[in-house]
Amino acid sequence: MDKKTALIVEDEKNIVDILRFNLQREGFATLEAYDGETGLRLAMEENPDILLLDVMLPKMNGFDVCRRLREQGNNLPVLILTAREEEADKVLGLEIGADDYITKPFSMRELMARVKANIRRTSMKMDASSTMDTGSGLVVNTDTYQVTKGGKVIDLTQREYELLTFLASHPGKVYSRIDLMEQVWNYGYVGDDVRTVDVTVRRLREKIEDDPASPAYILTRRGVGYYFADQA
Ligand code: CA
Repeated sequence: MDKKTALIVEDEKNIVDILRFNLQREGFATLEAYDGETGLRLAMEENPDILLLDVMLPKMNGFDVCRRLREQGNNLPVLILTAREEEADKVLGLEIGADDYITKPFSMRELMARVKANIRRTSMKMDASSTMDTGSGLVVNTDTYQVTKGGKVIDLTQREYELLTFLASHPGKVYSRIDLMEQVWNYGYVGDDVRTVDVTVRRLREKIEDDPASPAYILTRRGVGYYFADQA
């Protein structure tokens, strides 16, 4: 397998050092930036497999780096390193298109689990057929990872794409948020991170639904979880 590259954007040198050490020990190549501007440039130019992104950074903060990447159509997996247990920070990070977050101080074991879970998603294949027509004009091409609606391309992050394809390949089946964390996020543990599922569903609805407040594709079974509308 090709060596995966992780880009570390973090201004605290001791954290960069420990991340580099652990990532390299796990077989990753690493790139580093100590400010947001350089981080954004490296992310665009070097095409890493994952971005580990601090929030409070010189020149450009992590949220702006992530926002700019997504605005330019770059969907590389972004793992936000938040300094505080601030719910607002986590939700903001996910809303601007980050795939995941981890709160400092974190254990290296947890960090590596998240890094691997977020990279594994990229190479996850849903099924053999290359096109999934969900009805109502929403079509997923699992060869090109492209989603179109009424012939128009919808730009999704990898996580949004994988959540959509997972639910759409089991129409009518209700999944709890914990199920989805395990199946789509590949986490063997959950804690209060199930909030991540809600935010991702909300973002996905804003992109694919005519009326996100009254969804036609991804539906809520109150008190249970989410499911894809069974068109048949
Ligand atoms: Ca910082």
